[in-house]
Amino acid sequence: MSEGAPIKRLPKQVEPRKLAYNQVKFSGVVKTEDLPRLAKAAQFTGDVRVCLEFRVDEQGRRIVKGDIEGNAKLECQRCLQAMDEQLIQASVSVAIVWEEDEAKQLPRDIDPWIVGEDEADFYALVEEELLLNLPVAAYHDYVCIDEELLSHGSGEEQEVERKNPFSVLASMKNQTKRDK
Ligand SMILES: [Zn+2]
Repeated sequence: MSEGAPIKRLPKQVEPRKLAYNQVKFSGVVKTEDLPRLAKAAQFTGDVRVCLEFRVDEQGRRIVKGDIEGNAKLECQRCLQAMDEQLIQASVSVAIVWEEDEAKQLPRDIDPWIVGEDEADFYALVEEELLLNLPVAAYHDYVCIDEELLSHGSGEEQEVERKNPFSVLASMKNQTKRDK
């Protein structure tokens, strides 16, 4: 994405086949408040940036290729605290198909975008692509919770029990008795 280019807010309703036929480039942003499904999954900050190309490939498929990216603040699954902002990137390679049967015939590296009518919800595609690229579980890259909690129930704890001061006293008493 080139710096300094005017930032365009991309439309929600599009006619993807027409865009592909006309080889339209989609370069601009989608506001995160327009992506409620995504907002539920992760806290995105700033706009989602889109750089996509609609075209017809050599096999006559109407395809969309390019990148979608945004910055998200994920929650650490260990300490449940917010983590530093992370770049979430989606490399998009989809073919516009009419129905499920057509989708099944696509090569593995092309995902289907099922569009049964002329118009489609472009924001839904943006959401889907980013959701697919969110990490399943994110963790801080340092020990973010108390190490004592981490070692809970481990062998170390049993070791501590054996050195219990009272048991030491008890054995000393026994020793004394035996000495008499
Ligand atoms: Zn953490």
